[in-house]
Amino acid sequence: MSYQVLARKWRPRTFETLVGQEHVVKALTHALEQNRLHHAYLFTGTRGVGKTTIARILAKSLNCETGISAKPCGKCSACVEIDSGRFVDLIEVDAATNTKVDEMRQLLENAVYSPTRGRFKVYVIDEVHMLSTSAFNAMLKTLEEPPEHIKFILATTDPQKIPVTVLSRCLQFNLKQMLPHSITAHLARVLGEEKIKGEPAALKLIAAAARGSMRDALSLLDQAISYSAGELTEASARAMLGTVDDSFLFAIMQAVAQGDARAALCVADDMESRNLSFDAALQDLATLLHRVALAQTVPAAVSDEDPKRDTILELAKSLQPEETQLYYQIALHGRQDLPLAPDGYAGFTMSLLRMFAFRPDEYGSSGAESGAGLGANAGVPGAGTGARPADAAPGGVRTPRAFDGDWPVLAKSLKVSGMARQLAQQSELKSYDGDAMELCVPVAMKHLAEKPYQDKLKAALQEYFGRPIRFAVKIGGTTGNTAQDQAVASIQQDAFVRDMVENMDATIVTSSIKPIQQEAVSELPKRPLT
Ligand SMILES: [Zn+2]
Repeated sequence: MSYQVLARKWRPRTFETLVGQEHVVKALTHALEQNRLHHAYLFTGTRGVGKTTIARILAKSLNCETGISAKPCGKCSACVEIDSGRFVDLIEVDAATNTKVDEMRQLLENAVYSPTRGRFKVYVIDEVHMLSTSAFNAMLKTLEEPPEHIKFILATTDPQKIPVTVLSRCLQFNLKQMLPHSITAHLARVLGEEKIKGEPAALKLIAAAARGSMRDALSLLDQAISYSAGELTEASARAMLGTVDDSFLFAIMQAVAQGDARAALCVADDMESRNLSFDAALQDLATLLHRVALAQTVPAAVSDEDPKRDTILELAKSLQPEETQLYYQIALHGRQDLPLAPDGYAGFTMSLLRMFAFRPDEYGSSGAESGAGLGANAGVPGAGTGARPADAAPGGVRTPRAFDGDWPVLAKSLKVSGMARQLAQQSELKSYDGDAMELCVPVAMKHLAEKPYQDKLKAALQEYFGRPIRFAVKIGGTTGNTAQDQAVASIQQDAFVRDMVENMDATIVTSSIKPIQQEAVSELPKRPLT
């Protein structure tokens, strides 16, 4: 059986099946139909919104043997080869690994030659902002007087780093972040096609964790399917993502509404003992408060089908609207401050205590009809909330923890959620010397190594160790010793090997391939490291 990761299998191959970028598709379709083609396109947008996917479809549109068209046939050899990443006149470069001017120059020197097979030679340069200044200059020369047979398709997450001289020669398209509901809808479609059962709530959780990236969503869906073996339930998605069960947050907000700080801290202790991510908890708390605020202002906004409807409405009654606003702010700030807090538990409980300290009614009777303006009381720490921070943190000072080199075990216990958790679980330990840690993720999951996820994982590691560490993640061959279950890993390793082989066969300039092949296997430390 050939298993293909979902993000690859369900990568859209036509403009019609592309989700969420209608404005770009419309403009490109128009240009293709009118045969008004530009020689350089720039696609901007955050990770996983479809930049390189659109680039590939555009490459097909330009080179389809049936003619230039917004609806490439998908059957001719040009279309087929582009889809499988082995079309000789589609040159895909990842600027993150090809920043050197020599490589760029060599690439562009070849540009003067006519295409071998296609109508156009199409250069797709991903993360183009990573090119060095001299590499940009080399490219600029070609952009200034582009040969007829050349098309540039540039993609970037950071357009501000691209020189104006280059920008001004490109037709620019800004890709939007995917909305959670369009991600959820797409995931449901994929599950349907794959004939896998999944609870809608599970898909919502995955869509939320993907933060506007369809690629991340599909990758998380893939993990969730492996993780839940058969039917994808809300509970299994929650467990895999490390997201916090709403019941904890409802209990906390009920305690806040009743002025019962001790009860709120008990819930926090429970969360701590279950190793939940406090960053995710504060985020979910803000989401909950947003829903409560909506219910207070527009009760009809709470859907009858929402399984949490009753609890939301109950909270909406027991909190003042101004309170809800304030707690929402506190949750947001708490999340912002979390990396600076001594540890996640302290950061989280301080946010809760802040809610008690700034409660509008300092005597804590819930649903007080006075509606006392916050302005009057804000800043006056509430008396009689019954808990001091000292009570709150059993063993408040943490002893720095040791690490015996068993990364899969440590990875599972770290308080991270979503993509950062996947990074932890899908990566292998390359080295650790007490001050510095290096991990490695398989090529097929290189998107996990993006900086925001690295930063989150690093923060969690620093919290775990109780001190700063240097931290790096590289991409390359892995030996299969990650935190995933062995069974799951074996299937996936298979897919990744396939993936790598397909990639190597095809796309990128040879110079970018070397490191992957060379680092295929390295012995992992099994014994305690020093
Ligand atoms: Zn075709």
